Amino acid sequence: MAAPPSLKATGASPGVATGPAYVAKPMAAAASPPSSLSGHAELGDAIKKAIGELRDLAAGTDLESGEIIEFQIEVLQDPTLMEMAGARIDAGENIVFAWVGTLDGYIRELECAEEDQVRARAVDILDVKNRVLSILTGAPIDDFPAGSIYVGKDMEPSRFLAHDWSAGGGIALYAGSAVGHVALLARSRSVPMVIGAGPFATEKGQHIGVDGDSGIIMLQIAKQRATPAPLDHRPTRMASTADNGTLYTADGSQVLLAVNVNAPDEVDAIDVATTAGIGLMRSEFAVTSLADAANEEKQFAIYRHLLDWAGGRSTTIRMLDIGGDKPLAGLADVPSLRGIRLLLARPEIARVQARALLRAAVFGSLRIMLPMVMFPSDVDDIRQIYREESDALARRGLPHRMPPIGMMVEVPAAALMLDEFESADFFSFGTNDLAQYLVASPREGADFTLYQAKAVPAVLRLLTQAIRLAGSKPVSICGDMAGDPSLTADLLAAGIRHFSVTPAQLPAIRSAIVGLKADGTTAAGE
Ligand code: PEP
Ligand code: MG
Repeated sequence: MAAPPSLKATGASPGVATGPAYVAKPMAAAASPPSSLSGHAELGDAIKKAIGELRDLAAGTDLESGEIIEFQIEVLQDPTLMEMAGARIDAGENIVFAWVGTLDGYIRELECAEEDQVRARAVDILDVKNRVLSILTGAPIDDFPAGSIYVGKDMEPSRFLAHDWSAGGGIALYAGSAVGHVALLARSRSVPMVIGAGPFATEKGQHIGVDGDSGIIMLQIAKQRATPAPLDHRPTRMASTADNGTLYTADGSQVLLAVNVNAPDEVDAIDVATTAGIGLMRSEFAVTSLADAANEEKQFAIYRHLLDWAGGRSTTIRMLDIGGDKPLAGLADVPSLRGIRLLLARPEIARVQARALLRAAVFGSLRIMLPMVMFPSDVDDIRQIYREESDALARRGLPHRMPPIGMMVEVPAAALMLDEFESADFFSFGTNDLAQYLVASPREGADFTLYQAKAVPAVLRLLTQAIRLAGSKPVSICGDMAGDPSLTADLLAAGIRHFSVTPAQLPAIRSAIVGLKADGTTAAGE
C-alpha cells in the first residue's frame, strides 16, 4: 500500500501523535450583539475581566506557564492599548472594531519584526485580543476535542493551557515558532509539535499525524472527503447522472437552475443534485447583528457550510445588503445607506466579510456578489478592499483565494450602463429592487405587489437591453420574477439561461423550462 501523503516541515517538540484534525479558528467567536457597548468604561471593564481570568488560569499552573500568562497580563495593563482603542472609539468606531483594529495593528508590527523572539510574541497578543473580544461579545473561546491534532496558523498559549492533553494529541502549524511560548509548553508537556508547514488543506476530523522528531505531518485521506482541488482546475458543476440543476429546453438549449438561500441551514433540507448550486445567498440573513459583522470566524463557518453543501457547484454569496430599509442590529448610528454604499462607507464591515469569504473560497466554487451596485467605481473600490485583505491574509500565512466578483443588477442606473462595468465578473438581475425603483414605490405592502406586477413589461425591456450590454459575461436572474413560472417564457425570450429561485419554486420552474423552447415559445410554436 502507498504511504500516506506527507508534508516536510520543522519539528518544534519531539514525539509522534495521530488523531482527527481540528482545524482552528484563528479568532474568537462573537455571539450576542454588543449593542449596549459603546465606550471607554466598557472596554476598561472587559480588560479588567480578562486580567481576572488570566490570574485564575495562572493560579492552577506551574511556574513556566505562570510567567507566560504574566506577560499577557502586563500587555493588558499597558495604558497605551487603552489609549489607542479609546481614540478609535472617540473617532466613532464601534468598541469591538476599535479593540480588534488596535490589536491587529500591534500584531502586524510584531509579525514584521526581524528577530524570531519578537515575531513569536504576535500570537500572545492574538491571545489577549481574543480573550477581551470574547468578553465584549459574549462568545466563548472554543476548546478542541481531546486527543485531536490541532491544525492552524499558530496556537495561542492560553488555548494550550486550557486544553486537556492527557488523552494525547499534537500540534501542526502553518507558521508558528520554535522559540514561541506554545513550543516551550509543548516541550515541557511532551506534546508533539511541528511548525512552518505552510498553508495546507485538511478536513476537520480527517486523521492526520505529526512527527515532531523528523518534522513531518502525515496527511492521511481517511474517510472520503477529499480536499478540494484548486478551483481553476475544477468544474463549476459536478457531473451527475441525476443533475437536475442543468436543464435543457425543448429545443436543446442548456439552462441552469440554482437555488436562493437565506439562512445557511436552509440548504440542509435541499438535495444538492437537484440544483446548479446557489445562485444567491443573502448573507444579511446569517449575519444579523453588528457582533456577527465583526466576527470573521462565524462568517467563515457559515460560508464554508454552504460551500461544503454545494460540493463544487457554483456558490454565489452576496455581501451584506444592509442599511437603509434593511437595518442591522447594533448599527443604528450610520447614515441611511444601503448595500454597497454602506459597505464602502463602513469598510471595517466589508473587510471582515471579505476576509471570511477569501478564506472560505479555498473550499469550493465561490462567487462573490455585490448588492445595490450603482456605478462602476463601486466595483473597483470593493475590489481594492479584496486585494488588500488578500495580501494581508497572505502575510499571515492563511489559506485563501480570490474568487470572481460580480454584482447584482438591481439599480436602474447600473442596468442601463452594464457595458461600463468592466471590473464586474458576472451579473445577476435583482428584479425586486429593480421593479421597486422603476416604479418609485416602497418595497412592502399591497401597493408594491400591484406596482411590481404592472412593472413587468418595463423590467423585461430593461433586462433584454442589459443582457445585450453585458456582452460575453455570465448573466443570471435571482429576483422573485425568476421563480414565477408565468414569466419563464418571457425571461427565456429575453436571453436568461441561468435562473436562481427559492427552494419551493424549483419544481415549477424546472417543468416550465423543459416545456419551452429557448425563444420562450412552446414546442407548438405559441
Ligand atoms: C432583488 O432585489 O431582486 C434581490 C434578489 O435582492 P433582495 O430581494 O434581497 O433585495
Ligand atoms: Mg435586492
